[in-house]
Amino acid sequence: MTILIFIIVLWYGGLFFQTFFLHRYAAHQTYTMSKLTERIVFILTWFFQGSNYLSAYGYGVMHRMHHAYADTEKDPHSPKYDLSVFAMMWRTKTIYTDINKQKIEVEPKFTKNVPQWKSFDAFASSWFSRVAWGVAYFAFFLAFSTAWWQWLFFPVALFMAPIHGVIINWYGHIYGYVNFKSKDTSKNLFKFDFLMMGEGYHNNHHKHSSRANFGGVRWHEIDVTYMIMLLLNALGIIKLKPNTVKVRREL
Ligand SMILES: [Zn+2]
Ligand SMILES: [Zn+2]
Repeated sequence: MTILIFIIVLWYGGLFFQTFFLHRYAAHQTYTMSKLTERIVFILTWFFQGSNYLSAYGYGVMHRMHHAYADTEKDPHSPKYDLSVFAMMWRTKTIYTDINKQKIEVEPKFTKNVPQWKSFDAFASSWFSRVAWGVAYFAFFLAFSTAWWQWLFFPVALFMAPIHGVIINWYGHIYGYVNFKSKDTSKNLFKFDFLMMGEGYHNNHHKHSSRANFGGVRWHEIDVTYMIMLLLNALGIIKLKPNTVKVRREL
């Protein structure tokens, strides 16, 4: 039971900071926050993503490229152009690393205002940090697993972020329903996104990428991350930009 709770905390904790911070803040800038809050969120992202830490800069720039070039040859990840899910993830990893190391040239519109904390990113993305988290997960499993099958979740803990990436970037461009017809292949994976905290409303998001709420087009599309953002906004921790909160029922 302890192991299951641990995996659930890692799953939703890591995912929350991916969608709330990396996606809706770094890439799409749907809200603002103070520099101090931003730094705290950087540290919380490292805490919850652990061995899978993704930098806001690498993610933000790459993700803007995904929106600009969705399902074309220039898309950093697309099931249309990659032969297998592993080929896609390997290419994604390579492009992400090249952006972070500034090995490839990217247009200024992709880097504009993307937050970056270079020294912290260098530490949180280091092999030292990743391996230390891996060892900590291993020690936790060793201490609390009560049956052999619980170890099946160990690789899930180690590769949480790539698993989340596969669900949205691969399956979210193949399976599901469509609210908005578009040139790209984005789909809404679930009627109620219990698994991906709103990221699963991927077709809605491709249509209205600057909107803070990924759900809200159909009555059953409840975006849990957006609910938390409304709370943080009410508490004054973040400030939602007015043009990002319009929830229009278009269907
Ligand atoms: Zn997409
Ligand atoms: Zn996006």
